[in-house]
Amino acid sequence: MFDYFTFAESENNKVSMFLEPHFKGQRSGWIEVICGSMFSGKTEELIRRLKRSKIANQRVEIFKPGIDKRYGEEKVVSHDSNYILSTPIEHSSRLLQLSEGVDVVGVDEAQFFDEELPENCQRLALRGIRVIVAGLDMDYRGLPFGPMPNLLAVSEYITKVHAICPHCGNLATHSYRLVQEEATILLGEKDRYEPRCRTCYHMGNILDLRTRGSEG
Ligand code: ZN
Repeated sequence: MFDYFTFAESENNKVSMFLEPHFKGQRSGWIEVICGSMFSGKTEELIRRLKRSKIANQRVEIFKPGIDKRYGEEKVVSHDSNYILSTPIEHSSRLLQLSEGVDVVGVDEAQFFDEELPENCQRLALRGIRVIVAGLDMDYRGLPFGPMPNLLAVSEYITKVHAICPHCGNLATHSYRLVQEEATILLGEKDRYEPRCRTCYHMGNILDLRTRGSEG
């Protein structure tokens, strides 16, 4: 049986109280994904983790796709206006150029990035970087969104966060589009989308009519 304690002792030539094996000081990076529907708190959770890293004096860089200009050029903003400064980039390959000497890389709105995002996140992790990525797992049609399914497949840790369905109070996993618009990417907030559970999502605009009726 492999004994971590004995291993640490022989490797460092001294007795160690740590149970974790030390492979010659080389730190391994990893990928964390925070996913869910709109209004599920993905960005809040990303910001929370990044702020904890900053408190620990780790060097943190945050990136978002150039497409998302809803809140200004340099801020990652959650819907409750909690924000941290970020760098907009056009292609995920820029992550590699802009992450020299960084301990933690945050990526927001990952669903809008190119299909090379999973590969580039893995390259960052191989450099020993902790990569934290937040994004929508499904688009408004309920289909896997952009590079997210491949990213989920290659990540070490996945956190699926949920909104609350305003129609029934169950956990919401889907982003229902309230306006008639066919484009996959339609930026917007509560005026254009609402979170729904699976059942209410599939009831579609029947629920819209009821809502409008009850509001008079
Ligand atoms: Zn519901």
